[in-house]
Amino acid sequence: MEDDLRLFHDIATTLLKAEAENPVGPTIEAEAMNELLDLELTDQPLEEWQLRKSLEELVLNTPRTCTNKFFNQLFGGRNGKAVLGDLLAVLMNNSMYTYKVAGVQVGVEKEIIQKMNLLTGYGPLAGGTITPGASLANLMAMIMARDHFHHDIRNSGAIKGMVMYTSKESHYSIAKNASFMGIGREAVRYIDVDEIGRMNPEKLEIQIRKDKKSGFLPFMVNATAGTTVLGVFDPLEPIADICSKFNLWLHVDGAYGGSTIFSRSHRHLINAIERSDSFVLNAHKMLNTPMSCSILLVKNRKKLFRSFANDASYLYQTHDDEYNPGKTSLQCGRRNDALKLWTLWKYEGTDGLRNRVDKQFQLGNFARDFIRNHPDYSLHNHEEGLSVCFNYKDIPASWLCKELYEKEKALIGYGDFNGKEFIRLVTVNTNNEKEDILGLFKTIEEFVKSRQSKPLLRKKQVV
Ligand SMILES: *Cc1c(COP(=O)(O)O)cnc(C)c1O
Repeated sequence: MEDDLRLFHDIATTLLKAEAENPVGPTIEAEAMNELLDLELTDQPLEEWQLRKSLEELVLNTPRTCTNKFFNQLFGGRNGKAVLGDLLAVLMNNSMYTYKVAGVQVGVEKEIIQKMNLLTGYGPLAGGTITPGASLANLMAMIMARDHFHHDIRNSGAIKGMVMYTSKESHYSIAKNASFMGIGREAVRYIDVDEIGRMNPEKLEIQIRKDKKSGFLPFMVNATAGTTVLGVFDPLEPIADICSKFNLWLHVDGAYGGSTIFSRSHRHLINAIERSDSFVLNAHKMLNTPMSCSILLVKNRKKLFRSFANDASYLYQTHDDEYNPGKTSLQCGRRNDALKLWTLWKYEGTDGLRNRVDKQFQLGNFARDFIRNHPDYSLHNHEEGLSVCFNYKDIPASWLCKELYEKEKALIGYGDFNGKEFIRLVTVNTNNEKEDILGLFKTIEEFVKSRQSKPLLRKKQVV
């Protein structure tokens, strides 16, 4: 093991050096990877030095998602303390179902959930769990909402005609989850958004009334705090009013923007979160931990037990349910995803996490100001947030993003809203400074200029 830790250290050091030299990394054509890299598993074992070579080659030819040229999704950067916590979790290899096996790591998870529930304002009955991603946290929320609508569905199966509501800009996991949980994709009503992409509460109420009149059975609303493309926040106060009026479960999908509960400057965006029944946030997005760390908070932890507890005499042999988190999980064996966040939080304090979140909004504002003041750029979303959507010189965004990727200049993606396609810059990486944002704009400008003067030679080589 000691040798392997040294090997890890060597490979990690090599990677950090390579990232500093080329923050994007070589792009390998999907069809060519087996030819260019030694991926094949063979009958014969390798010598230690051969494995080292093989691993190094693999690591150096993998997309670099932790650098200042990665803006492609809603995560980015690398936090040393959080990585340290995650490495220790892997080393200890506890499974988070029982206190007997996870011991004080259960306390680590409980502490995170408790502190986040305080920030959310959920009150004394609150609970939660950590899931492998927000897509599955959304599924758990939908299942709790279903069981809240009728307690026996978990035994007798879904009732025909149950319907739920989400905005047209919400995450695709809602549709998939509706199919998994047996109500079907057609049970999802997509509510129109306003001109900046937020769910329109009047349209929501009209649709609910219409459905009830036609005999459908509304049971929940999913509101989004930080939509995947535009990064805007659905208005929680009027949506919560409607949910109270019609007795519907309110879940808030804050996978992207939910960490705004930490913000000093932008907490108002998520006001009324305490009126929801469940809420998910991804620490691997705005809090910059490694993938994945999704925290599902529930206002009444009894609902978690009701939907997810199951007896298993071969598993639960000691301790009270409160200390056996398997009783509130979708999974059986579960990775310790809490320790990376706990390590970061312990080291930086809540103040440090607040600073992280506030800085991301500042970087977003900085990028928007730059775009507004530059005649070659056009801005598509003016609201404060971490997604900055723009075009450069009317160049098709999809083409530009693909070229920047293939020519190893930057990893950045595109999106669309109201029929317009744009580049989406995400200012979620707190390691970045204003210069790094300017660096991206400069990369785009120089690339376009070079393309206009001479076609780039295709370079495909393994390092
Ligand atoms: C990222 C995202 C998700 C999915 O989260 P995973 O952790 O990738 O499963 C769900 N909803 C929203 C709004 C997101 O931005």
